[in-house]
Amino acid sequence: MNHQELVALDHQYTMQTYGRFDVDIDHGKGATVYDLAGREYIDFTSGIGVASIGYANPRWVDAIAAQAAKLGHISNLFYAQPYARLAEKLCQRSGMAAAFFANSGAESNEGIIKLARKYSFDKYGKGRGTVITLKNSFHGRTITTLTATGQEVFHNYFFPFDEGFRYAQAGSMDSLQEVAGHDVCAVMLELVQGEGGVLPMDKDYVHDLAVLCAERDWLLLVDEVQTGIGRTGTLFAFQQYGIIPDAVSFAKGIAGGLPMGGFLASERTRGVLTPGTHATTFGGNPICAAAALTVLDILDEDALAAVTEKGNYIRARIEKMNVPCLGATRGLGLMIGVEVKGERTNKQVAAQLIESGLLVLTAGHDLRLLPPLTITMEEIDKGLAIMEKTLA
Ligand SMILES: *Cc1c(COP(=O)(O)O)cnc(C)c1O
Repeated sequence: MNHQELVALDHQYTMQTYGRFDVDIDHGKGATVYDLAGREYIDFTSGIGVASIGYANPRWVDAIAAQAAKLGHISNLFYAQPYARLAEKLCQRSGMAAAFFANSGAESNEGIIKLARKYSFDKYGKGRGTVITLKNSFHGRTITTLTATGQEVFHNYFFPFDEGFRYAQAGSMDSLQEVAGHDVCAVMLELVQGEGGVLPMDKDYVHDLAVLCAERDWLLLVDEVQTGIGRTGTLFAFQQYGIIPDAVSFAKGIAGGLPMGGFLASERTRGVLTPGTHATTFGGNPICAAAALTVLDILDEDALAAVTEKGNYIRARIEKMNVPCLGATRGLGLMIGVEVKGERTNKQVAAQLIESGLLVLTAGHDLRLLPPLTITMEEIDKGLAIMEKTLA
């Protein structure tokens, strides 16, 4: 099959919900991917922060194959090693107390919202189910997580949306006080807003917010679907913010490309979700969990330190480029935003880079770079050279 045939097939038989770039990807190795015609692309996207250890990592492939040959699925009504082992690793490395596994980011966020509402219900009864989220946030595409998402453009078409969310201006304690009330049970936020434009939260703000949550007995819910699993240079971004969340969600990068998500609870909240109150058929699938264990093994302390170094290197190189349409950079670790200046939109700049052999993402009005965390310096230099040459 060639590119044109694939595009025709896709258009004929799939719902056209994605504005795809006119590029197909067939296979990959490390942070380099290839299309059907064999053309090479350097990947500064990891999917969208998912292929955290790159493509076709042999340890990951072996772990998946071995687990598939042993036990590909068993219901959560039985004990199975991969589930428990993965929970142990995540808790030990994050300081959290207990894990629940799900299958996507949105579903994981629904889980922490349910945890917060039940915590509050158990303690205070009905009428305290409101969750404060931040403007410009992104929490997912289910009806509830769309409602949680603090961007008006997402509150469309699918009426009626849920009750129980109010939105505060990110970075403003005054705005948080304005939307506070006796009906609130939690605040949910991303520490670096991803889809909203790669916008890191101010550390003092996050500290003050955590103090307010503790005072009011609101749960502090951190959505680490994009920032988690090493993306920012620590296993979770909250570890750089000096806070301990009451619950934290993760997904994208956890299993290196297989669909998996979940959330971790603190010692205080680990017992909130009791038998029968929360479940999912596929959650913690043994193959996904085996893949995730390999991802965590590969992302050891040295690999995480390298994430910070590579991120700083990429940002410094881009800021020094003589490229008129790119401006300042921002971000944490290998979660990088690059300002797009001038007449062309970020989508147009991204399309030009992709056509030239460098996969990039957009967010807000700017470019977003989420390379595989294991990308080599050689691949980084190749990608940056394409960027400079294409946009000069
Ligand atoms: C991607 C993302 C989600 C949604 O994840 P899905 O797996 O697409 O449901 C939620 N929150 C954040 C911060 C994300 O980046």
